[in-house]
Amino acid sequence: MSKRGGGTVLRGKTVYVLGAGFSIPAGAPSQAGIMGRIFHLRRQGKAFDSARQRLREFLELDLALAEEQFPHVPLEDIYTPIDRCIANNCSFRSHTVGDLVRIRQALGLVISRAIAESIPRKKAPADYIHRFAGLLVSQAARRAEIARQATSTRRGKSYDPFAVISLNWDILLDNALHEALLSQHPGTGDYDPFGVVDYCCYISSLDEHDSRVRAGLFSLGCRGFNVKLLKLHGSMNWLQCPNCQRLYVGFGRKLRILDQIGRTQCRHCAKGGLDNRLQGSLVMPTFLKDLSNFQIKLVWQNAGLELMEATKLVFIGYSLPYADFEFRQLLSRMVRPGASIEVVLFRGANPSQFESEKQRYEQFFGKRKLNFHDAGVTGYMDKLIPRAGT
Ligand SMILES: [Zn+2]
Repeated sequence: MSKRGGGTVLRGKTVYVLGAGFSIPAGAPSQAGIMGRIFHLRRQGKAFDSARQRLREFLELDLALAEEQFPHVPLEDIYTPIDRCIANNCSFRSHTVGDLVRIRQALGLVISRAIAESIPRKKAPADYIHRFAGLLVSQAARRAEIARQATSTRRGKSYDPFAVISLNWDILLDNALHEALLSQHPGTGDYDPFGVVDYCCYISSLDEHDSRVRAGLFSLGCRGFNVKLLKLHGSMNWLQCPNCQRLYVGFGRKLRILDQIGRTQCRHCAKGGLDNRLQGSLVMPTFLKDLSNFQIKLVWQNAGLELMEATKLVFIGYSLPYADFEFRQLLSRMVRPGASIEVVLFRGANPSQFESEKQRYEQFFGKRKLNFHDAGVTGYMDKLIPRAGT
């Protein structure tokens, strides 16, 4: 495979799998760091402050935790008992199922705000993500070049060099891809052959007049291209209608789409006289993950196909935790025996953690060829995409 992609036709398919470590150098919190950030934030307005107070009371009174323990409680330990009680329609201590649903909503709100507030609005810390986005866009754009004068779709269809599977909620890569796509082709005509971020499920644009948010397949039909980004745990720029299940998508570094939860009406359902308020669609860390959401299911099914077609997998900043058992089973079901596996982790100040994560991969992938990189995501990107002038 050519390192820079660009004008070269790539052989095989690379699937990148991104974990929390992909976004940490750009300022995003690790999952273990989210609780600390929640209680570190200043007052954020009424909705956030009362949601945080609800969470505080739950931790203190129901889980019997001391305040200094709040930053260290794993999210699974909060979500799993709540979700089990909701699923079984039984109370958790003195909380009815209705209370638990409200506590869960409060938790979702404070988590998404903690992540959004942690990420700097400036571009500089995410430079490596922008370079990665540029590389992906240049590789994917080749499909539009192939399609430009073609009378048959055969060559275009066979050009499918990569997909990205992300387990993160943050939208650092999403925004970087969208910006790279806009700068590559600034057009907004409905049939313009530009590229789009393709979440591999059915989407609508949050802003009715934003022609740059369109389905990947439609873009291919316009002789454009798609950059496949499959977000297994949902995304912070998605809102969903609880009635028609449409997924509304927006992009932008200043976007705080989750603040619109419960406020914005589904414009399609409104045409039929219905008042359905959009909801978030994040899949929370719990041992009882609810993957019954139609759009999320579609993303998982498509992710399975990408994994099956991959000749090479590159795991970046992902420790393959046992808690992600659904994703682990998807990998064991779909990854080819002959696929080559690259794993990008960060040895840094904690070599024993690096070694145990390495062993976890070796155990899981068995006889497959594994190659480990220990310089973290920024070190890996510097090798993959050298900075201009180096
Ligand atoms: Zn709707």
